[in-house]
Amino acid sequence: MRRYQSFGDIVNDATDLCLVWRDVQGKPVTVIDLMDALDSNADLVPPKSYMLSEEGAIGVTDAYEYATGWILFPMEDGEEKEACLQKIRAHFKEEETQQAESSYKFCENCGQKLNAGAKFCTKCGKPQD
Ligand SMILES: [Zn+2]
Repeated sequence: MRRYQSFGDIVNDATDLCLVWRDVQGKPVTVIDLMDALDSNADLVPPKSYMLSEEGAIGVTDAYEYATGWILFPMEDGEEKEACLQKIRAHFKEEETQQAESSYKFCENCGQKLNAGAKFCTKCGKPQD
């Protein structure tokens, strides 16, 4: 078991072990949900910290570690997990596509599609900033 002070650090390591969990109510939680939670700065106030089990379960503990409350459990293999993994793959593929598109720009003069780093338009020759 490892102990973490920051939610960002535990998410980083946990996602090496697991991508889909169940919360205490049994609802699926994916790596995408955790990344969204990261954006909202979910860090705990010390002396509480996060625990990561060998299997990838995530818990919250006090300074003495005997009161670990497990909040996320790795999801068992099966159709539901497979469906979640597919959603995750689709999500990251979409992000990749968006990034690829944002590496282009368009000439202000003639509208030619150019690489983001282009210094001159390949069609009309106008210098680009
Ligand atoms: Zn141009």
